[in-house]
Amino acid sequence: MQNFDLIVIGAGAAGMFAAGTAAEHGARVLLLEKMNRPGRKLILTGMGRCNITNSEPIENYYNRYGKNGRWLRQAIQGFTPTQTIKFFNHLGVETIEESNGQIFPKSQKAREVVDVLVNYNLNNRVTIRNDVEVKNLLIRDGAIEGLSCKVIARDTFKFESIFATKVIVATGGKSYPGTGSTGDGYRWAKKAGHTLTPIFPALVPLETKEQIPVEVIKLEMPDVKVCLWIDDKKVEEGRGEIEFTRTGLSGRIILKMSKQCVLALHVKSRVEITLDLVPDLGMKELDVKLLQCLNEYGKKRMFNILRELIPERLIGYCLEINEIDPDKLGHQLTADERKRLRLWLKEVRFIIKGHRSYIKALVTSGGIQLKEIHPKTMESKLVKGLYFAGEVLDVDGDKGGYNLQAAFSTGRMAGLACSG
Ligand SMILES: Cc1cc2nc3c(=O)[nH]c(=O)nc-3n(C[C@H](O)[C@H](O)[C@H](O)COP(=O)(O)OP(=O)(O)OC[C@H]3O[C@@H](n4cnc5c(N)ncnc54)[C@H](O)[C@@H]3O)c2cc1C
Repeated sequence: MQNFDLIVIGAGAAGMFAAGTAAEHGARVLLLEKMNRPGRKLILTGMGRCNITNSEPIENYYNRYGKNGRWLRQAIQGFTPTQTIKFFNHLGVETIEESNGQIFPKSQKAREVVDVLVNYNLNNRVTIRNDVEVKNLLIRDGAIEGLSCKVIARDTFKFESIFATKVIVATGGKSYPGTGSTGDGYRWAKKAGHTLTPIFPALVPLETKEQIPVEVIKLEMPDVKVCLWIDDKKVEEGRGEIEFTRTGLSGRIILKMSKQCVLALHVKSRVEITLDLVPDLGMKELDVKLLQCLNEYGKKRMFNILRELIPERLIGYCLEINEIDPDKLGHQLTADERKRLRLWLKEVRFIIKGHRSYIKALVTSGGIQLKEIHPKTMESKLVKGLYFAGEVLDVDGDKGGYNLQAAFSTGRMAGLACSG
């Protein structure tokens, strides 16, 4: 069998970057993927459009990864968001910038990104083998020797050992397990002596105690002020897009807050989310606006009047919760009802009782403890020749292209380190 300098496990964002980089710099590389083709998760990213990175200035970038952003500094500086854009442009992917600095391929097709990465590997003579599920790492005397794997061929399979003195584990986290990311790398890392920080789903929709009415499900509101309360203390607030789901709340701003919610729920704290549905109006201004509407449209039904303030699909829910008859006319609304309405519009409160599972989480938080990994090369400090890249590490970022950038940067650094 052919000899390889390096084996990369997992043909996702980090693995394809790592393998292509090492091969481009002269290494003989084998890339193993357990699914029947590379990039199964990548193709789903950005709702099939792939938000490859974010143009935010690099000084602010690290804050997007919470407390572990500092560790990521060397990797991101080693392969910056600007370099990511140039990399893809150079390979023929034209990019465009959308709101909040998010960068997408101009074609709006994640498939283009996957194809380009696969070709980047093939053109640099990486051997890609699909349908190969790595089972274990082979480690002796504190150094990597290779791995054992299950090779699937048509309706049968066989076991194989493959040897190399360098192995990059880029098996991703546990989210969206149907794409192949089932947390295998965590198990091997633990067996190799690494510490795992607890893992849990992040960027994940939240489940509310309150039932979401059918007509409100899938309603998206682009600009809502959201506050997160833990044990009656406001811990985070932000403004942005939310979405009502069958089981609760989602949308960019909710996903961003979900990590804190998940942690708080795990320690049995009381978690609440409040929504300010009219964030541009202060309480007084809202009252003035309400009075104006009631005067102007006094003979109209409350249902119609509220169209001035909130999406139509939300009006029935709003009136029901505030016990206001939808057929009531504007001039019939009492001062008390107006007050209830005003308070509700500024602060709709939801008790968060849970979160969706890994099946619906965009990323996995937690993973291989970073102090056991060299931040420049991604090499394990415990096992010589063993490297980790991507989401398998204890790195997760905000929504907006930050997670793929982390996968690309750590993949690049590991690939470079393994090419010498
Ligand atoms: C629906 C969705 C949308 C997203 N959208 C965005 C976005 O637009 N922008 C953004 O920045 N981030 C996005 N993310 C997050 C981003 O996709 C991940 O953070 C990123 O893909 C992680 O890259 P990775 O290479 O570490 O892992 P993955 O992309 O998960 O790749 C891991 C690979 O390893 C393979 N593998 C696992 N175990 C084995 C094994 N035992 N043997 C062989 N192969 C194995 C898997 O099959 C998989 O192909 C999204 C995530 C999801 C789920």
